[in-house]
Amino acid sequence: MARKSSERLLAEQRSEVQHRIESLQRHLASIVESATWTANDDEHDPEGVTIAYERAQTQGLLVDAKAELEALDEAARRVEEGTYGLCQRCGKRISKERLEALPAATLCIRCTSARR
Ligand SMILES: [Zn+2]
Repeated sequence: MARKSSERLLAEQRSEVQHRIESLQRHLASIVESATWTANDDEHDPEGVTIAYERAQTQGLLVDAKAELEALDEAARRVEEGTYGLCQRCGKRISKERLEALPAATLCIRCTSARR
């Protein structure tokens, strides 16, 4: 894949992930806020449990999104180095289709399935 299109694809994906992180952070802040609003002495308050669950779930999504952002930065570095699009295991070229679907991919489809 041409370097220019890889860079564009990575940049697009990156801004998308960044938006997701921002909205998750806003969501998390609103959960924390509503938790303070509804806080009372009853530890068995079912709403409190729902909030705790939602909060844990949102935090999990946030961790995922941040890892994705790191992977994209890593991929951008590989574009600089000229190793982008090469499988880190077998050194073969990762298919264009795969990179378009997953710009931060570091393994070709064969190595990914071999790992499972
Ligand atoms: Zn491979």
